[in-house]
Amino acid sequence: MSKVIIHGHTFKTKISAAQIQKAVTDVARQINADLKDKKPLFLAVLNGSFMFVADLMKKLTIECEISFIKVASYEGTTSKGKINELIGINEDLKGRTVVIIEDIIDTGNTIENIMEQLKDHGAVDIKIATLLFKPDAYIKTIPIEYTAIVVPNDFLVGYGLDYNGLGRNLADIYVLDYNADVIVK
Ligand code: 5GP
Ligand code: MG
Repeated sequence: MSKVIIHGHTFKTKISAAQIQKAVTDVARQINADLKDKKPLFLAVLNGSFMFVADLMKKLTIECEISFIKVASYEGTTSKGKINELIGINEDLKGRTVVIIEDIIDTGNTIENIMEQLKDHGAVDIKIATLLFKPDAYIKTIPIEYTAIVVPNDFLVGYGLDYNGLGRNLADIYVLDYNADVIVK
């Protein structure tokens, strides 16, 4: 097990790069089989999904397209409060099989919001592929068709996931090491 320190907190390896690649290969195999004749449009949600989607795409053998979207969060000027606007959709989604690519699904709030906005853009056939899924935190009923790795409700970094901006470049996935963080006085 190796450790890294990010913003003063210790993280230890949880999922190795080799385990990630195996899980990504399994998801790619399912997608290759399921969506062979659908010419799907993959919409990768930035920033966190960039490593997952790069590895996934290299393992896909079917005809497909890829584009990138982002959820821009800002305070609204009306009584609506916080607005989560989906940016980056330039494609016509009508009649397409759209696959959202996420780094991690926790409560499901983000994915639900993205789904609703894609429907506003005319998408009807929407599927979800995620690198990581936390079933214990998930409070939605939206089915997640493709999950690479199911994880417990811990805070993870690496392989695209960050801790306050850092750690996205790590090839393995790390978990916060609570024991190492206990300050002995
Ligand atoms: P949800 O809306 O499903 O609750 O959360 C989704 C977002 O929360 C993810 O896209 C990610 O930005 C963040 N998130 C949830 N769990 C983790 C985690 O364990 N590590 C990191 N780095 N981000 C997480
Ligand atoms: Mg995300």
